[in-house]
Amino acid sequence: VTMTAPSFFFQIAIFGCILLRSVDACVPMGGEHAYRVPDPRSHALVCEEATIRTTHRSQTTFNAEQEFLKVPNASRARDHLRHITSRPHVAGTEGDREMAEYVRDELQSYGITDVSLESVAASLAYPVSRSLRLYDNDGSLLFEAQLSEPILDSDRTSDTWWRNHTFGGYSPNGRATAPLVYANYGRPEDFGMLEDMGVNVQGAIVLVRYGECFRGLKVMNAEQRGAIGALIYSDPQQDGYVQGKEYPEGPWRPKESVQRGSMQYLSLCAGDPGRPYLANGSEPVCGFNMSQLIPSIPVIPISWGDAFPLLESLVGTMKAPASFQGALNLSYSTGPSHSTKVEMQVNNDFKTVPIWNVIARIPSLDEGKPGYVPRPLIVGNHRDAWVYGAADPNSGTAQMLEVARGLGVLLGKGWLPKRSIYIASWDGEEYGLLGSTAWAEMNAEMLSNATAYLNVDTGVSGTKFNAAGTTTLASLLAQVLSEIDDPYQGKPLIDLWDQNLLTLGSGSDYTAFIDHLGIASLDIRFVPDTGARYGVYHSVYDSFDWMDKQGDPGFKYHQTMAKVWGLLTLRLADASGRLPFNHTSQADAMHEYVHILEHEAEVSKAPKGLLVPLKAAVTLFEIAARSVGAYDIDHHTLDDRLAFTERRFLSESGLPHRKWFKHVLQAPGLYKGYGSDVFPGVIHELREKNFDGAFQQVKVAAKRVSAAAAYLSGLAV
Ligand SMILES: [Zn+2]
Repeated sequence: VTMTAPSFFFQIAIFGCILLRSVDACVPMGGEHAYRVPDPRSHALVCEEATIRTTHRSQTTFNAEQEFLKVPNASRARDHLRHITSRPHVAGTEGDREMAEYVRDELQSYGITDVSLESVAASLAYPVSRSLRLYDNDGSLLFEAQLSEPILDSDRTSDTWWRNHTFGGYSPNGRATAPLVYANYGRPEDFGMLEDMGVNVQGAIVLVRYGECFRGLKVMNAEQRGAIGALIYSDPQQDGYVQGKEYPEGPWRPKESVQRGSMQYLSLCAGDPGRPYLANGSEPVCGFNMSQLIPSIPVIPISWGDAFPLLESLVGTMKAPASFQGALNLSYSTGPSHSTKVEMQVNNDFKTVPIWNVIARIPSLDEGKPGYVPRPLIVGNHRDAWVYGAADPNSGTAQMLEVARGLGVLLGKGWLPKRSIYIASWDGEEYGLLGSTAWAEMNAEMLSNATAYLNVDTGVSGTKFNAAGTTTLASLLAQVLSEIDDPYQGKPLIDLWDQNLLTLGSGSDYTAFIDHLGIASLDIRFVPDTGARYGVYHSVYDSFDWMDKQGDPGFKYHQTMAKVWGLLTLRLADASGRLPFNHTSQADAMHEYVHILEHEAEVSKAPKGLLVPLKAAVTLFEIAARSVGAYDIDHHTLDDRLAFTERRFLSESGLPHRKWFKHVLQAPGLYKGYGSDVFPGVIHELREKNFDGAFQQVKVAAKRVSAAAAYLSGLAV
């Protein structure tokens, strides 16, 4: 490729920008990473691509966005939520099927004609029985755990079969009797500290608390170190009385409330661990079979009320390190206790049953024209819940229905979007992202032309806006947030947001889209302003009454989120100018990721120069990102380059030891799950001090980043 003089000078100008700009991306937050999003109203964008302006007009004579924004309604959202939470709807149950039909019927009633209820075979496990007892050495019973959530008079739906069936999804059946060891959050570093103290978890039942990492990985970490059973409890420090008043007086977790949840090893492979919808199961796509993707030791999630006597039985053994101390009024100790034993038993019913995705499609106005290729935008939320799921996930379902109703109003006026829009109500998310992953895998070819994926899971559990996503969508998000006001504070949402766009880890339905298919994704929500996860998460009290009285009285945040989500949808599916992707943000973020690698390389004493090929590739990408629009490319082609560049970050062979995860820029942390690792292949090998492997991964990542640069700049197809 020969470079002409003007383009050479252009690139010099770009370098000027690079040098002048202060890189402020990626503030590490509690083991996660974030991109600091510039305020679109400030002058910080002087050096941005000059081309991120989107003009929002429609082909028809009316303003689609203005018309849309009139529709989302708080009391309609409340009605949706009341209906969906009227009955438990755990994946694959009759209640789940009923709610799938409700969502389908609602979508059709808005004038969306192409709506289907798609059944997928799923490997699930339902609770039958479990028990947990503490004995002293001569076999007398000291304590028997309740393992049930009490009926509350003020919570009208709390009297349900499920309150007595608190359980861990995919916990295998089994019985274990052993001394107890307390292992804090169950992270590798927690087990490392125990080892340093001489506390052995081999043959023990391990008690860990919720927080810091995905629950299944706590079990994986315990199992790898020889534990024969695991108990996970909710310490009031994380989501109980330390945060505020307990439910029903306040929103936080009461003493006997239990966080249910999947025990799957989701950082190894997302989706159904058995994949009965594929002829050969999970092994070919994941590199693991079902038994490798779920625990082989029994697991029970418990309340702090049930954990208290267990922790008390350890007092007087080895005093736990300061970082292990929770908020309960006792001296946290690690054990093992030589005078007591814990006995636990789990019986779950494993079976293959149908689950139901509801998929609605709004066609593009170009459909049927010669040469038309669909470039769909996908919006999605899961519907299945651990019991009623008023916040998780059905606040998002109520919002999605309001978005759909708004789009339906536009359709009624003769509008059609430039790009087709899929609206998906996923099933089986709680067990391990089953419905969305199956759909993404089975529609991979169609999705190779997808524009983006917009996810809302727990739409409202508090009043603070929070977002994770692909940095190319950061400018678009910031723009939308500067145009929608907080319902109570009368200020644009962007003024109340910390402006940290978190790097996507895992734990919701965007995982297959970004990590497996390379589709730019956003995940947005309102969370409690303490920064904690909301108190009734995955309990029987995540109910309509909780939302109505504690979570979002008045449902104004439901309405607000529907507006944000709807505007994002319209600007991606119906942009009349250039697609609002900003790759300079991506380049900024990558520079920060490289800094993180440099730090890791230093810590692990890697050979100098190991990262050089990757640094060069990132610089190339930055040049490409800043040159977007400098070349005279046909608009449609340029839009494809903007949207599809993300695909170039996929490595065909996948990440080391987990080939289903193909994205070289980010993946859920191998031992963290919810949180993310950046340049995960490189960082993994560096942590293992495998420098040959690290250099291999540097080359893989550099190749993908260079390919992305070449594609974005139009030098490669
Ligand atoms: Zn959820």
